[in-house]
Amino acid sequence: MKLVRFGAPGVEKPGILDANQQLRDASGLVKDWCAEALHPESLARISGLDLERLPVVDGEVRLGAPVSQIQKLIGIGLNYADHAEETGMPIPTEPIVFLKASSCICGPFDDIEQPRGSTQLDWEVELAVVIGKQAKYVSEQDALQHVAGYTICHDVSERSFQFDRNGQWTKGKSHDGFGPLGPWLVTPDEIHDLDNLSLWLDVNGERRQTGTTAKMIFSVPKLIAYLSEVMTLYPGDVIATGTPPGVGVGMKPPVFLKVGDVVTLGIEGLGEQRQVVRAVDS
Ligand code: ZN
Repeated sequence: MKLVRFGAPGVEKPGILDANQQLRDASGLVKDWCAEALHPESLARISGLDLERLPVVDGEVRLGAPVSQIQKLIGIGLNYADHAEETGMPIPTEPIVFLKASSCICGPFDDIEQPRGSTQLDWEVELAVVIGKQAKYVSEQDALQHVAGYTICHDVSERSFQFDRNGQWTKGKSHDGFGPLGPWLVTPDEIHDLDNLSLWLDVNGERRQTGTTAKMIFSVPKLIAYLSEVMTLYPGDVIATGTPPGVGVGMKPPVFLKVGDVVTLGIEGLGEQRQVVRAVDS
């Protein structure tokens, strides 16, 4: 299934794409895509229903992040060997974990706001894992049973805030609009090769990032198991699993986003996002 949330910011309603990719209003089934509604058993029950009975949503609608009430947006740093190399940092021996403020989460086609004083605004396409069932001390073997689905996270980053302002990375990762999620939450039954999904990102139509999840240093099950040892993961928590090579700070010379730039990004099976950069005060 492909789950979405549609409507104006803050008042999105839950929706589902049916077999013909037609958007249907799911608010008669669930209050929202959060908490218990994300439990794998709840999603299995919904997938057994006749979705064509749900009301059709006509016309152009804004999509929000496909999950609501996200308590934690967890970032994983340098999780692709080829990206770690381009940054000149050592290959991590344990996952590098940071938090993005959940207030940065926005829809997949919303604008990216360039913060005041930002000079190094950068892009990062990432596979995001959404937790569906509470996870504390789960094993790697059981980890995927705790997943509600997958989506794209654009881990928008301000490198100067991230690296030059005396730690932690959270400073460069948390501005409003730095966490576009979506367009869909795709349930695991639709993702057949989690370990070999292609990822890409363009800036103004020029390819900047090309990657595959095959290059991840720590796999999705490994990350869930690892994180569940340092914090309890709750339904709706999101893990952005790291980015492949091709970020602006890794280019020679470095290239960063400026107002008016258009970023498009996608992951095999998970759809595409598109954002325009605008100044915070515009
Ligand atoms: Zn990242």
